[in-house]
Amino acid sequence: MLRLLRYYAPYKKLLVLAILCNLLMSLFMIVSIPVLQPFLRILFNPNELSEEVTRSNALTDASGIRAIEQKLNGFFAGLIQQYGQEKALLIVCAFLVLTFFGKNLFRYLSLYFLAPVRNGIVRDIRLKLMRKILDLPLSYFSEKRKGDMMSRITADVQEVEFSIVSVVESVAREPIVIAGSLAFMIFVSPQLLVFVLGLMLFSGLIIGGIGRSLRRQSGEAQSRLGYIGALIEETLGGLRIIKGFNAEQWQQERFSRETARYVRTLTGLNRRKDLASPLSEFLGIAAVSVLLWFGARQVFAGEMSAATFITFLYAFYNIIEPAKQLSSASYSIRKGMGALERVEAVLHAPVSIRDGEQTLEIRDFTDKIEFRNVSFRYQNAEQPALENIQLVIPKGTMVALVGASGAGKSTIADLLPRFYDVTEGQIWLDGKDIRQFRLHDLRALMGIVSQDAILFNDTVRNNIMFSSETASEEELLAAARAANAHEFIQNLPEGYDTNIGDRGSKLSGGQRQRLTIARALLKNPPILILDEATSALDSESEKLVQAALETLLKNRTALVIAHRLSTVQHADEIIVLDQGRIVERGTHESLMQSGKVYRKLVELQAL
Ligand code: ADP
Repeated sequence: MLRLLRYYAPYKKLLVLAILCNLLMSLFMIVSIPVLQPFLRILFNPNELSEEVTRSNALTDASGIRAIEQKLNGFFAGLIQQYGQEKALLIVCAFLVLTFFGKNLFRYLSLYFLAPVRNGIVRDIRLKLMRKILDLPLSYFSEKRKGDMMSRITADVQEVEFSIVSVVESVAREPIVIAGSLAFMIFVSPQLLVFVLGLMLFSGLIIGGIGRSLRRQSGEAQSRLGYIGALIEETLGGLRIIKGFNAEQWQQERFSRETARYVRTLTGLNRRKDLASPLSEFLGIAAVSVLLWFGARQVFAGEMSAATFITFLYAFYNIIEPAKQLSSASYSIRKGMGALERVEAVLHAPVSIRDGEQTLEIRDFTDKIEFRNVSFRYQNAEQPALENIQLVIPKGTMVALVGASGAGKSTIADLLPRFYDVTEGQIWLDGKDIRQFRLHDLRALMGIVSQDAILFNDTVRNNIMFSSETASEEELLAAARAANAHEFIQNLPEGYDTNIGDRGSKLSGGQRQRLTIARALLKNPPILILDEATSALDSESEKLVQAALETLLKNRTALVIAHRLSTVQHADEIIVLDQGRIVERGTHESLMQSGKVYRKLVELQAL
């Protein structure tokens, strides 16, 4: 609970207002209870009231609540004497309407003030989560499902929102209403109250038992739903492959197995939830019947007036709703706390790759990049992905990484911008370990063109300007031209302002690649990390992409994961990797003469 309170801090003023309104609301609600009594008395037996007033006025030692009752009774008796029965009734009714108007006005006002608080807190948490997702190292996500992440940022945060409201209401409203009604009941008949409390405890235990099993099942349902979300996302992302492999049936079956499990859990959950309301209504009416029987006997015995008894029932009725609310609030608060825990697990996850205490600024790359005896092992992996990598990339040269899939090419490329940190050894840039530099500065020196063109659901312009917002229109056009992209962009319906769809789905593969090349050209970084696309393009498109790449590579220092011979031939050094080790190195010519692995790779590709 205290943890949740932290999130309220920025909304103190609104929160105080909401609580204040809740207090006022409870006050009006409680006030309505004693007003009912004289109303009923006027209705049942108007003379009795005035007689009683005259009688009790004679006693002078009345004190405390009795005195208040007397005053009230006296006040109403006075009304009757002054205005006559009917008019007095009208006044009492008007008073009742007024108290209920006040109650509901403040109920609305408290929600009115609470609305910006709950939505604000939810926004704050979402912003924090997004910030954190952007900060966390890549290694965090390889282990966590995307669907799980999505469900944390949407469903769990929603869950927290519900408990935000519940906390305020259950702290500032329900207890006061309950206490007020209880006080009245004690005052009327402590004996009846004890009886009522016994009944409530009994029904509470039964309903509480159901609540507990509900909680367990709903947790299970939540995690099943998360898994379904992950499956849907996987399907949407992999549609091409699923269709291509005629695996629709297979995927459908996986999905239907998972949904069947969800349905089973959910059906059980629904049945139990649906039981709660009929059961509580039945228990309620049973309790009321017992109470009616018990109370009516007292009325018959002349120990209590009928009006008092009905008022007592009304007070009891006033407790039921808040008591229910309180129990469902405690349920939703606990659920919310569970959700908050899941959210905070992300928020508090350690960011292993970050700026150290003392960081060096770096504005430019002047000399060389060195991998010094670098080894790397992925978390939880048994084998190291890289072992003893020695590599020098002087400024202005291009080093190509080749090797079978899984040899460690991408891993080397990921170490340079510190997507992962080396396990052993060091990577130096201009004579200093890259971990000494400000992360932001280090990455500013690099441009990354990845294998699958990463594009965002936005306009062509924004996709190219991404990370170079300050670029001028001329620079944008120049970059697009140099990437052989200008022409096709102009032919799009709205030119540079055309939205390219989810992940650039409205563009061809070659067009997507040229867009990412234009993006890198616009950033104009001294160091380029290029993961060549493996997917085959038609020869026309291939030529355009190749030409764009050559422009991009010109005068730059580049680390290239090469899949095409044409790129490799231009490399100053070719590094041949196998199972995380460098097995051969040299130029294309020297390797063709003396290398074994390289020649084999080339021959395979030539087939
Ligand atoms: P390449 O790019 O040459 O195909 P990678 O650098 O992607 O090879 O992979 C090198 C090795 O590291 C492979 O054995 C691969 O299974 C493993 N690997 C890659 N990424 C991860 C990861 N996130 N977690 C654990 N192991 C990984």
